[in-house]
Amino acid sequence: MRVISATEPISEDPTGILVEGILEANAEYYSADLAEKVNRGLTENALKCIFNGGTIPCGYCIDEEQHYQIDPVQAPVVQEMFLRYAGGETMTEIVEDLNARCLRTAAGNRFNKNSLTRIFSNRKYIGEYRYKDIVFSDAMPAIVTKELFERVSARLKSNKHAMGKSKAPERYLLTTKLFCGTCKCMLVGDSANKPNGVIYRYYKCAGAKRHECDRKAVRKDWIEDKVVELVTSIIHNEENLCHIADELMVLLSKGSELIPVLEAQLKEVRKSIRNMMRAIEQGIITRNTKDHLLELEAEEDRLVANIQAEEEKLPKISREMILFALHRFSNLNLSIAKNKEQLIDGMVKAILLYDDRIVVYLTFKDEPLTIPTADELRDMENSSDIDAAVSP
Ligand SMILES: [Zn+2]
Repeated sequence: MRVISATEPISEDPTGILVEGILEANAEYYSADLAEKVNRGLTENALKCIFNGGTIPCGYCIDEEQHYQIDPVQAPVVQEMFLRYAGGETMTEIVEDLNARCLRTAAGNRFNKNSLTRIFSNRKYIGEYRYKDIVFSDAMPAIVTKELFERVSARLKSNKHAMGKSKAPERYLLTTKLFCGTCKCMLVGDSANKPNGVIYRYYKCAGAKRHECDRKAVRKDWIEDKVVELVTSIIHNEENLCHIADELMVLLSKGSELIPVLEAQLKEVRKSIRNMMRAIEQGIITRNTKDHLLELEAEEDRLVANIQAEEEKLPKISREMILFALHRFSNLNLSIAKNKEQLIDGMVKAILLYDDRIVVYLTFKDEPLTIPTADELRDMENSSDIDAAVSP
């Protein structure tokens, strides 16, 4: 099993974002594989250092010989914490989610920022074992990669230095995807303060802003929830997931655009070499023949190496892994804003808003899906709180 670095360059389109999610999920998939390895006893050789009392860090257990062993149940949770923090989630979000899942610290307590900080600073997780002042690296089984540990350390450090706490700006999840059904302009996210201090967040048609269209603004939460609900219902269907996995396999197997070019060049070079060999066989040899042949052969080697390098760059993902990632995708905790964002970014291509319906184009479905909305939009207009707050 090869673990693919999530830092590989991936395009920003919905497919790219979905693939990125899949690459991230690989690390989790790997942890399932890790548990299997532990069972098979393959880590035996790596275990040299002995547990000498104290609290056993979360993710490890101690075997009869007093060696650290990876706890196949807890270790994936530790990996998850590192991945999520490195991926940009806040400590608060992670802590809340862990506690909501009834997970507990090694000492049996609820998680808090301090316990998380201790975990993120514990170098045992990269296999470092300390005895007094002596550090043994790769002395015990690692739970996270050094690279991931460093990313988390960097974020810990920068957060410590950050002056004051700035609240994250409200994200408008449908930005660049939501369009007016009438004038086809993009709807733009905005907010307005009502006199009573309540902030109304809404999307408004850019055409309507210029008074060229009479589309009313729609409440941000309302339309985002509608879209998330639809996408969730799609990916909770096993058949749909299999379909998406198949499409992704086709996309991934297409691979690099560079390879066909390199292969064409290689073909040309080999043809030249054959021609030259034929000429040599016929006794046509000049002073430059040998040099030229050597040049061609060097070029052939270079192209073969480049093709190999390109091929290695391709993510090697099995359909099984894609399905694993998609299931993870479909089980995202949507009370976390970042997860909602990931879901919409990965699954939604475009949304058209009409007076009586929302039409959603999904990444892996040719036909759009329609959400009827007639009554709700009318109700919203009648309550008119948005347009009262949103004066052009
Ligand atoms: Zn419009």
